[in-house]
Amino acid sequence: MLDARRVVDVGDVVTLAETSIVREEMRGFDSRALRRTRVAAPTAYDNERSRSRVKALVKESAGSGFALRDVPEPKIRENEVLIRVRRAGVCGTDVHIYEWDAWARGRCSPPFIVGHEFAGDVVQVGALVTDVREGDRVTAEGHIVDGRCLLCRTGNAHVCPYTKIIGVDRDGCFAEYIAMPATNVWHLDDNISFDIGGIHDPMGNAFHTALSADIPGATVLVTGCGPIGLFAIGICKAAGASRIIASDINETRLALASRMGAHDVVHPNEAANVVKRHTDGLGVDVVLEMSGVPSAIHQAFALVRVGGHVQMLGIPSKPMEVDFATEVIFKGITVYGVVGRRMYQTWHQMTRFLQSCNFDPTPVITHRFPLDAADEAIRAIKSGEAGKVIFEVA
Ligand code: NAD
Ligand code: ZN
Repeated sequence: MLDARRVVDVGDVVTLAETSIVREEMRGFDSRALRRTRVAAPTAYDNERSRSRVKALVKESAGSGFALRDVPEPKIRENEVLIRVRRAGVCGTDVHIYEWDAWARGRCSPPFIVGHEFAGDVVQVGALVTDVREGDRVTAEGHIVDGRCLLCRTGNAHVCPYTKIIGVDRDGCFAEYIAMPATNVWHLDDNISFDIGGIHDPMGNAFHTALSADIPGATVLVTGCGPIGLFAIGICKAAGASRIIASDINETRLALASRMGAHDVVHPNEAANVVKRHTDGLGVDVVLEMSGVPSAIHQAFALVRVGGHVQMLGIPSKPMEVDFATEVIFKGITVYGVVGRRMYQTWHQMTRFLQSCNFDPTPVITHRFPLDAADEAIRAIKSGEAGKVIFEVA
């Protein structure tokens, strides 16, 4: 018989969110998942630092908005590190949680601290941590996987079915401090700013999407120039795409697409002509679908060449119809579904591209807010006039 109190005890649960995780596991009781929770936290690392209270943006209850609250400083386990958050990226997922839409209602269990993109410096390390030290400048993979399932053990941890996402399934990074498993920590080179460190997560989405296709010399259509589409344009440029055509319905974002290196920036209704002109009427070698809008997804299938690749990152908000016979099968195309970042191939690629200095994501960051201006930050994203929005936490 499942006893929630015992589960809480073995993990020495100290975060707002973990009580929700226990609730979640009780709802869809999966004994294997539960065993993994226990194995991950056999003993508590009793830190000597006196625990003070720190500021955090909390999703307090079912309803819209975030609340800035003083919460206990996170307590780390033996395999974890405590990171002082310097910068945190705000993303569409945070907007869903803020608005408490159908997806958020079905997925999240308040109360928990929001946010999953960040960079900062390490202020404390657990007893079992060997390769992260106090003072290290880091970011982190926000998907915490079990490391033991079939997917994790075959190099596919990005689709681990036991994934817990910070800021969704457990406490996140819109806070002065966050506890992270050391295995998820990624070191930043000295010349990489916390600004850039703080957007490694969405940049990684773009690296994963683009570099799982064959980009050198390719003609590429990017449908959707949100932050991730914009990063992808810069990545394709650095990776040697011969022609990058970017489409969006938003002028601000098309202007940013030009800055990131797109050869052509077009409205969706002009895309077909421009693609035909630059591909001898054949269609592009690769489409990076980065909008999640059904009409753009149909356009991706229509404008990719026969035998080409469609890399699907954008998430449609509801089920949509696809004519598989004509849109996929008879075109002989390959469709690749993107989930997060490959662990840790994507992270190595990202670091190497940044080291090469051929890829500069800086122009994508357009808005900065302090943590107590969450409403303004969310408004900036919803306005469509922003590229990447970040919090300057410390
Ligand atoms: P975003 O919403 O800021 O960007 C989407 C862009 O698409 C917007 O600029 C919008 O104007 C544009 N657009 C709308 N209609 C269009 C059309 N018909 N043709 C071309 N462009 C159109 O989002 P983002 O943060 O850059 O993320 C992009 C997508 O990726 C979203 O759907 C998001 O949910 C999804 N996402 C997926 C993963 C994953 O792991 N698969 C991770 C993060 C985000
Ligand atoms: Zn796994």
